[in-house]
Amino acid sequence: MKQTKIVLSDKEIPQKWYNIMADMPNLPKPPLHPATQKPIGPGDLSPIFPMALIEQEMSGERWIDIPPEVMDIYTLWRPSPLFRAHRLEAALGTPAKIYYKYEGVSPAGSHKPNTSIPQAYYNKQAGIKRIATETGAGQWGSAMALAGRLFGLDVTVYMVKVSYGQKPYRRISMETWGATVHASPTNITNAGRTILEVDPDSPGSLGLAISEAVEDAASHEDTNYSLGSVLNHVCLHQTVIGLEAKKQFELVGEYPDIVIGCCGGGSNLAGVSFPFLYDKIHGKDLRIIAAEPASCPTLTKGEFRYDFGDVAGLTPYLTMYTLGHDFVPPGIHAGGLRYHGDSPLISQLYHDKLIEAKAYPQTTVFEAAIQFANTEAIIPAPETAHAIRAAIDEALLCKEEGKEKTILINLSGHGYLDLQAYADYHDGKLTDYEYPAAKIKEALAKLPKL
Ligand SMILES: *Cc1c(COP(=O)(O)O)cnc(C)c1O
Repeated sequence: MKQTKIVLSDKEIPQKWYNIMADMPNLPKPPLHPATQKPIGPGDLSPIFPMALIEQEMSGERWIDIPPEVMDIYTLWRPSPLFRAHRLEAALGTPAKIYYKYEGVSPAGSHKPNTSIPQAYYNKQAGIKRIATETGAGQWGSAMALAGRLFGLDVTVYMVKVSYGQKPYRRISMETWGATVHASPTNITNAGRTILEVDPDSPGSLGLAISEAVEDAASHEDTNYSLGSVLNHVCLHQTVIGLEAKKQFELVGEYPDIVIGCCGGGSNLAGVSFPFLYDKIHGKDLRIIAAEPASCPTLTKGEFRYDFGDVAGLTPYLTMYTLGHDFVPPGIHAGGLRYHGDSPLISQLYHDKLIEAKAYPQTTVFEAAIQFANTEAIIPAPETAHAIRAAIDEALLCKEEGKEKTILINLSGHGYLDLQAYADYHDGKLTDYEYPAAKIKEALAKLPKL
C-alpha cells in the first residue's frame, strides 16, 4: 500500500506562535484573585511565573516570536510529520481521508515539550533556579524534566500517587533527566498534609498535585511554578503543531473538514486547532472536535463558570467548564485526561459553539487504539486514542453518508510507556466506569457563587 508522509524542512518550522486571543469573538472573563475575587494583574502572578510568560498569558498580539534558543531545541524533533492513514481508511472502508500529525516523535513522546522548552527558557532568562510542577500520568513531568535539564534548571515533580504506582517508567525517565519526583499527596506541603489527614490512602489527583507544586513555588524565592496545560501561554506554544499542519496540507493541496484532538486541559487540541480556527472565525466551514473521557466529561457535562485550577484554591479563579475542583475522577488509564477543568480559551470557544465535544468510555477508546496500532503501526497513548475513536466514528459516518471528508487527528503521543493499559485491555481487565454523576454534583455544589 502507498505511504503518504508529508515532511517539512527545519527552515519551515513556524517562526512565531499564533495567539487566538487576537481573533476570538469573545474573550474569557478575567482571572480573579482567590482571596479578593478582583481581576488579577501581572504582579499577582509574578511570585510563581516569569514576566515573559505573564505577558504572553495576557497578550492580545496575534503573532509572538519563537526565541532562537527555543527554535534550536525544537529542531531536535520538529517539524513533526503529517501522515495519511491509508491503511486505517482501507480497514474502515471509508471514503474519508484521514491524516494524523504525529507529536510522539518528541524525546518525551508527546506534544508537551512544545511548551516545556519555552517555559524553561523564559524561567532561566529570569534568573530562576528551580521549577516545581505536577504531573498526572508523567508526560508533563518528563517533558519538564527534559526542558529543565537542557536549560540547567532543577525540577521537582509532584506526581499523582495512583500514576506513580501505575507508570514507573515515566518516573524513571524524569529521574534519568535529573528531576526529583514525589508521589502526591506528600507530607512536604500544607496542601498535601491536609488531604493525608482526612484520607491517608488518597490516590491523589491532578488538582491536588497542582496545589502542592504552586505552594512549593510560592514559598521559595528561587523557584517558579510551571503548568503543562490549561493556561493561555501553554495553548499559545502548542500552536506550532497546527501551523506546521497547515503548511503540510498546502503541500498536498488539501484542507481538513474536521480537526480532532483529545482534551484533558485542552493544550494539544488548542495547538492543532487554533490556526485552523483562525480560518473558521473568518468564515471558513470546518468542524473542531474535542474528544474527552466519559468518566471525566468536563466539556460535555461540566458547568461553565469560575472555578479554581487546583484543589486547595491557591490558583486564581478561571472561567472554564468544570466538574468542581475537588472532584477526583475515576482511575482511567488516560491519566492525562483526568482533570476537573479545561483551558479557559477552549471553554470559551466551546461555549461560543466554535468547538464541539464528545465523550467516550475507555473500552471503546482502546478498541480504536488497537485498530490504529494494527493498521498505522504506531501504538498511541491512551489519551490520544480518544481522538482516534472520534476520528474513526466520523470516518464511519462518512461511509454511511457516502461523503469524502478530510479528517485531521492530532496524534498527541505514543503509548510505549503505557503498555500496562494495553496489558489490562488484553487481559479483559479494562472496565468502563459509571459516569460519576453524584460525585460531580457534590463537587459542583461546593463551589462558591461568584
Ligand atoms: C497530557 C497529554 C494529553 C492531555 O493534555 P491536553 O492539555 O489536553 O493536551 C493528551 N495526550 C497526551 C499524549 C498527553 O501527554
